[in-house]
Amino acid sequence: MKLIFHQVRLVDHSMDRRGSLVVEDGHIREIHIDEVPADLAKAGGAAIHIDCSGTDWVLMPAFVDLHAHFRDPGFPEKESLESASLAAASGGFGTVVCMANTKPVIDNLDLARKLQSRAERLGLIDLFPVLALSRNMEGHDTGHLEALDAKTIGGTVRLLSEDGKDVADDRVLRKALHEARRLGLPVSYHCDWGGKEAEDAKKAGLPRCIWSRLEENLATERVLALAAETGVHIHIAHVSTKEAVELIRRARKGSAAQGFRLTCEATPHHLACTEEIVDQLGPESYGRVNPPLRTAADIGALIEAVQSGIIDAIATDHAPHTEADKAQGAPGFIGLETAFAACHTALVAERHLSLKKLSALMSRNPSRILRLEDRGFLAPWARADLVLVDPSAEWTVQKEDFKSRSSNSPFIGQRLQGRVLMTIHRGNIVYDTLTNYPRRIG
Ligand SMILES: [Zn+2]
Repeated sequence: MKLIFHQVRLVDHSMDRRGSLVVEDGHIREIHIDEVPADLAKAGGAAIHIDCSGTDWVLMPAFVDLHAHFRDPGFPEKESLESASLAAASGGFGTVVCMANTKPVIDNLDLARKLQSRAERLGLIDLFPVLALSRNMEGHDTGHLEALDAKTIGGTVRLLSEDGKDVADDRVLRKALHEARRLGLPVSYHCDWGGKEAEDAKKAGLPRCIWSRLEENLATERVLALAAETGVHIHIAHVSTKEAVELIRRARKGSAAQGFRLTCEATPHHLACTEEIVDQLGPESYGRVNPPLRTAADIGALIEAVQSGIIDAIATDHAPHTEADKAQGAPGFIGLETAFAACHTALVAERHLSLKKLSALMSRNPSRILRLEDRGFLAPWARADLVLVDPSAEWTVQKEDFKSRSSNSPFIGQRLQGRVLMTIHRGNIVYDTLTNYPRRIG
């Protein structure tokens, strides 16, 4: 299928120009800046033409999420690979990494491959399941990693993570990091110490949402020390405190000399929501997330870190839960369908960040962390994973509109600016709000 976007604003990490873009055979075939060649304007026949002249619509590389929970296998009441993929595609994502805290845990290549091929058959996104750092996420045994080699993991696994669990035993964590280094894989590390501070706070009758500031900071320090020791590529998941930002800033300065690579991510909710909304949502129920929402000063530090490049990527930590689970205090928010709009509203519309920079954070940088060099930017022969957005469209987030099976979003009822109109995956339209729209011909 040939797809031609006419007179659209083209934005990626290095470009912000008006032009036209041709998609063919799953790839970007041509990009024409400013002038549209006459033959392109006339190219009829089998092509689908999307005329964006007179609009401020933006065509960008599809987003790449380093951190999502698909809950598959094991928790169909919360989400399935199918519903999460649909949520991702409608949020403008083309590639997603799903975490291993499923039932059974994703700690073997067989299960990872099965999930990946199910996603491939579905054709909405590319899925890269992570493998757990320890067998069954029990924190004891790394034998499942020792059995692997870089060749067999091939295109299936591109990241290791114990996600929300800490590997408490230093020896086991060290061994896991050594294995990751041998396999050439980055490790996404969720910095807390298993919630001891949370439990203490609960026992003391304090709201759990105030926990874990110290835990996050100390756990960040610990894993940075082990990264320097093992030479692994460490990727810090969902940074949320200003102190952790500072630790990462300092560690990054010395990381090259010490022989390790350090990257990190922040979530849309940590960038856009302060702890104030936790009380409205319920600190022990709908407002609960790990790490908790922090203060305005933390958000200020995160935004500065995003601007200065200390934070490399925006990742959703999409964490679907049923209403009953949230009422019981299950931590996490869904995020795939609101990520772009939330970041666009909080960062771009507020003039903290250019759209180019947001594209780097949501597409180019996460692709590079996963060593996926064929996507995340606009260039001839790059993968045609694209998203068409309307940056000025305002919309109110409605519970009923989620494609996810869950609706535990902190943005419900909020007015956001920026909306995904269409998502292209491998050259195919997989999400489309423009059907029957007069600008679409063919
Ligand atoms: Zn997570």
